Amino acid sequence: MNEAALREAICRCGASLFARGLATGSSGNVSVRLDDGWLLTPTNSCLGQLEPDRLAKLDWQGRLLSGAPASKEAFLHRAMYEACPAAAAIIHLHSTYAAAVSCMSGLDPTDCIPPLTAYFVMKIGKLPLVPYHRPGDPALGEAMRQMAGRHSAVLLANHGPVVSGPTIESALYATEELEETAKLFLLLRGHNPRILDTEEIAELARVFPAEK
Ligand code: ZN
Repeated sequence: MNEAALREAICRCGASLFARGLATGSSGNVSVRLDDGWLLTPTNSCLGQLEPDRLAKLDWQGRLLSGAPASKEAFLHRAMYEACPAAAAIIHLHSTYAAAVSCMSGLDPTDCIPPLTAYFVMKIGKLPLVPYHRPGDPALGEAMRQMAGRHSAVLLANHGPVVSGPTIESALYATEELEETAKLFLLLRGHNPRILDTEEIAELARVFPAEK
């Protein structure tokens, strides 16, 4: 996709997330990688009302090249792009169910939502928990960099998910899968669910090697 088409795709993605209540108010941000930098939703913007020409265009030092000032969470996206060369689009939300899981104590920090369904395993896999940092703390970017190199998605403690994909559509689908699986996880708390075992997870990797 060229830059104009990617700008339109970000706005469609934002509108879709907002319409379904996955992003509310001015929370959440969406970015895509370009040949000459990257695009990110502006600060204090509502994902439901994005305009293609107002998106922030940034260079890899985080400097604004054109458009409105970028989201204050730009450093999260930059950290993930730097750690994941395959990431071409990133979605960060404060979506209710994933954010609820991110506030729970006693999570496994290496894998904070269990493998409940095949689609979660294929689209997200192991989901690490990045320890809590205050908004804008540069140490959060460093913590992201360390984990994002091995994972296409992470969950920020007491905050929400950051999900990357090779296209904006794949990042969107993975974000939705994460949110729905977080919902299942909460619904099943205390119900002793059967989770996929090691052999079942290995079989998915064998049969669907390129699903992420
Ligand atoms: Zn956030």
